[in-house]
Amino acid sequence: MKIFVPNQSGSGETRVALVPATVKKLVSPAVEIVIESLAGQLSSHGDGEYRTAGAGIGEGEGWAQADIVLVVKPPSPEQIGQMRNGAILAGMLSPERNPSLLNAYAHQGISAMAMEYLPRITRAQAMDTLSSQSNLAGYKAVILAAAKCPKIFPMLMTAAGTLQPAKVFVIGAGVAGLQAIATARRLGAIVTAYDVRPAVKEQVQSVGAKFLELPLETAGAQDAGGYAKELTAEQQQKQRDLMAQVVTESDVVITTAAVPGKPAPKLIPADVVARMLPGAVIVDLAAETGGNCELTEPGQIVTKHGVTIIGTINIPATVPYHASQVYANNLANLLKLIITKEGQPKIDTADEVIAGVLLCHGGQVIHPRAKELLAHA
Ligand code: NAD
Repeated sequence: MKIFVPNQSGSGETRVALVPATVKKLVSPAVEIVIESLAGQLSSHGDGEYRTAGAGIGEGEGWAQADIVLVVKPPSPEQIGQMRNGAILAGMLSPERNPSLLNAYAHQGISAMAMEYLPRITRAQAMDTLSSQSNLAGYKAVILAAAKCPKIFPMLMTAAGTLQPAKVFVIGAGVAGLQAIATARRLGAIVTAYDVRPAVKEQVQSVGAKFLELPLETAGAQDAGGYAKELTAEQQQKQRDLMAQVVTESDVVITTAAVPGKPAPKLIPADVVARMLPGAVIVDLAAETGGNCELTEPGQIVTKHGVTIIGTINIPATVPYHASQVYANNLANLLKLIITKEGQPKIDTADEVIAGVLLCHGGQVIHPRAKELLAHA
């Protein structure tokens, strides 16, 4: 059986789907791995390192020859068109943003697996790419903020006077938010955080931040899957008003608020930005889905009313070495459910995890969410 990992750096991606350490674990007499030349270059893994780990180095022909193709982002329609009927494709296929590829996978007879749709259950934690990448995004958001902030984060008592610690406010305390809190705390900042899911309060406190209590009725704000539900327009307005004071007193605001399948809730209006401290920094981790701040420009770093607003997208790709390492481990753990003891690929559609990620199989679009996307396309 052959696994192929393409070089996706041409489309601006810095990460790679397998790193040499995972190649070493996966490769066997029955499992051949081919890495497209220079696939790991931007994440600091040279072809020689992959060869030493047991992989072959190939070119684009891998698309047509592989039983399993592992990607970071979706392939192009041309690349899909080269794949074998019955081959497996796994990666962050972002079906919401790429609905047109769904029919291409089905037409080509590919079993396409979107890592974003992995069920958030205990058994699947080691395959959870949303968590592994968000965790790094939360860390890097703080580093980006610290680099732009005119203040340092820790309190320093020096002969030249005492420097007060920076105040950081984190909005949305899921995986990225909790890591942002922990990172900002490690740098010495005073951290406050808020999330609509009341269950998060204890987690926020356990990583060293103060939980902001708002007189907002959010008892039903968590769905059965542990995700936030969208607030009503009236609740959102109340939340914006109530949070404004903390936002305007903070040196750094990191926003991570997201509701699956919906645009990011707008939590910081332009007039609140105008009232923020001079030199304050907002890092909007929700930029890709429209941003939590009204003035965020996705993909850009802008200064508005003296406030730096960082809307950089794909932040995990800015730490490609470690982002690739955890992503590769996520994929390798998924492959344990797919590759049989004899080293053959086998898709068990009755497995909850496989059924959760499988968009297309046997020439059909089979995932309910994918079918819904096509119905609305
Ligand atoms: P996410 O990226 O969907 O959202 C980020 C955060 O934004 C969430 O905490 C959400 O509650 C919050 N949010 C939404 N609207 C908001 C608003 N108006 N104001 C403030 N905050 C708002 O979330 P995520 O990081 O993917 O995590 C979602 C949940 O899944 C968490 O409870 C997490 O602990 C859980 N999880 C479970 C597993 C598992 O395997 N059991 C794995 C990973 C995550």
